[in-house]
Amino acid sequence: MHHFPDASAVVRALSPDEPVILNRPHAAARAARFFVEKFPGKSLYAVKANPSPALLRVLWDAGITHFDVASIAEVRLVRATLPAAVLCFMHPVKTASAITEAYKVHGVRTFSLDTHEELEKIVAATRNEDGTGAEDLSLCVRLRVSSDHSKLSLAAKFGVDLVDAAPLLQATRQVADALGICFHVGSQAMTPFAYVQALERVRAAIVDAAVTVDIIDVGGGFPSIYPGMEPPPLEDFFAAIHRASESLPISYSSELWCEPGRALCAEYNSMVVKVEKRRGDELYINDGAYGALFDAAHVGWVFPVKLLRDEADTDEAEFSFFGPTCDDMDYMEGPFMLPADTRAGDFIEIGMLGAYGAAMRTAFNGFGQGVTVEAADEPMASQYYGDRRDPRVTDNVVSLR
Ligand SMILES: *Cc1c(COP(=O)(O)O)cnc(C)c1O
Repeated sequence: MHHFPDASAVVRALSPDEPVILNRPHAAARAARFFVEKFPGKSLYAVKANPSPALLRVLWDAGITHFDVASIAEVRLVRATLPAAVLCFMHPVKTASAITEAYKVHGVRTFSLDTHEELEKIVAATRNEDGTGAEDLSLCVRLRVSSDHSKLSLAAKFGVDLVDAAPLLQATRQVADALGICFHVGSQAMTPFAYVQALERVRAAIVDAAVTVDIIDVGGGFPSIYPGMEPPPLEDFFAAIHRASESLPISYSSELWCEPGRALCAEYNSMVVKVEKRRGDELYINDGAYGALFDAAHVGWVFPVKLLRDEADTDEAEFSFFGPTCDDMDYMEGPFMLPADTRAGDFIEIGMLGAYGAAMRTAFNGFGQGVTVEAADEPMASQYYGDRRDPRVTDNVVSLR
């Protein structure tokens, strides 16, 4: 892998006709250390956000030992990359063969579920040769919670409703060595209140079911910084989660888990693209909806951008992007703020593409090639510069704990 100081150096050296992905291992390592040191429990990396083996190794080296995997392919990938990692299969709908392979071949012991059918499937798929049931399962019941405070909903698809949770928790308790409750508040949660509200629902579920709970898993959703989306510091999220979980009716020895995807890898990648054509305030670039810009095209996500040219207009203008494929859907509305004289032949760096970006590139229409390099400079924005004081210094309620 080639190393460069920054994106401008990449353009000077390669003048690349294909998009170039920039990896920033130092940024991912810093995010991982932050969660390991400051989250008041265990942090599982949600692999789907970016399954690159190089990133998995960076996170492991920085102290992330547990990985939230969602498919048998992810199970195999992480097991092959990190033989000693602990894998948790947290997709609530799995095939029986995936469960069996995960349990018997790859040592997976933690599974999530949100129906009685899935519970029966897990029990059957992990049964011993002699017909007895597995005695070492950690089973997390996924509770449906609100996505109101997040930019991307994960509320509609998964999770048992509170009114139906008690019988499922009780049935799961019967077969689980450890019983957990998990949820996902939606991706890019913009306020710690999202977690506080979800944990209130967890409380109601525990009280209803009157079961002993060993694991509380607050899922992912921890935010990164994008244009127009400046979330509060992560310390505030951690403090609110700590407080709310400490007051749950669970045993002293129960564990608190989280499953950050975006927050651990958003800063890991950026991408250099070339402007092939300009039409009004629309720029035709060489990556798009089928490349690393899926979210920019399909959910209107705005990523930070930087023109890589020494002299440019000081006035900025709002631009939209067209990707390189032949269909109209390959369109990123933005607005992306760039110097007003941005034109064909220019190179642009698009930042914060580590989560649900670089990992989602396809080869559709013959595009999706290009190289990956390493960059030494800082990501365009960071939650982890460490310039934030410990909130316990200013928050008496937290400091009393
Ligand atoms: C996608 C997902 C995550 C990660 O979510 P982020 O918003 O990227 O932090 C965590 N847990 C589960 C179950 C998920 O599906």
